[in-house]
Amino acid sequence: MAVKIVIDAGHGGYDAGATYNGRREKDDTLALALAVGEILEAQGYDVIYTRTDDVYDSPVQKARIGNESGADFFVSIHRNSSPSPNQYNGVQTLIYNNAGLKAVMAENVNKELEQVGYRNINVVERPDLAVLRRTKMPAILVEAGFINSDEDNNLFDTKFSETAEAIARGIDETIRDAGYAVSQTGNREGAVKTAIQNEKRGTATSASADENQKNKVYTGTQVVNEYYGISRTVPAFAEEEPQTSMGYQILVGIYRTFGTASYQANRFINAGYDAMVYEDDGLYQVRVGDYETIEDAIIAQRELRDRGYDTLIVHKA
Ligand SMILES: [Zn+2]
Repeated sequence: MAVKIVIDAGHGGYDAGATYNGRREKDDTLALALAVGEILEAQGYDVIYTRTDDVYDSPVQKARIGNESGADFFVSIHRNSSPSPNQYNGVQTLIYNNAGLKAVMAENVNKELEQVGYRNINVVERPDLAVLRRTKMPAILVEAGFINSDEDNNLFDTKFSETAEAIARGIDETIRDAGYAVSQTGNREGAVKTAIQNEKRGTATSASADENQKNKVYTGTQVVNEYYGISRTVPAFAEEEPQTSMGYQILVGIYRTFGTASYQANRFINAGYDAMVYEDDGLYQVRVGDYETIEDAIIAQRELRDRGYDTLIVHKA
């Protein structure tokens, strides 16, 4: 059984991601994801794509696709964006926390992309992102340059194959290195599986703040302008759909445009909440949290109300 890797092209469908002069993140991520996947397939990996055309799935759904596929690794491809054009450039790889194989893979991908000519602007911890938080396997999110940087776009376009090869190489070398120590026994795949199991155990205890400091991994948002945690379908409000409930969320706003809702969701994310946007009947809801019991949801709702937000507890999709 080959090592299985999920390649996730960020955004898609009505969610264009970041845009710049008519250029859309969702197109760049799809092209790059397919190119990276093709290289890995040629190397013998079993590659699963979250999308191969212009369709939308929420990051939560994408994480679910990964988990249900039983994949060993999850690699999400995005492009970064800054408030002003040409304000920043470079590649950044995001991980849930600085521990285990995913941290090694993130460093390797950045290092390989640096060889192509991109500036390496670090590995960043983003515990709030659904594709990193909800995936059960080691997961990384590659920000392949800034979509509103002419320098990065030039690299992306003129060195497209090299960019895809660099990402694939960073992934492949991490996996091979992880299995190398025990590959003398002649069972490379078994070794890789063992390394992955260790990774899973390792994440359970997670890296301490001291370790993060030591490894110079930067916590928090630096220059990320992303729309995460978005889901298309929503349930009706609580009393109308209790049977299918998987928990509770707190509705904190309804907006006419996806952009406004995303902006509001990002404000909650920056304030430390787990926020997401749901589309319902042409309107966009911003929801916070993910609570198993109504009691937990009530406690969180009280906190949000104390901070001045209008709130409503709703059932999760
Ligand atoms: Zn993105």
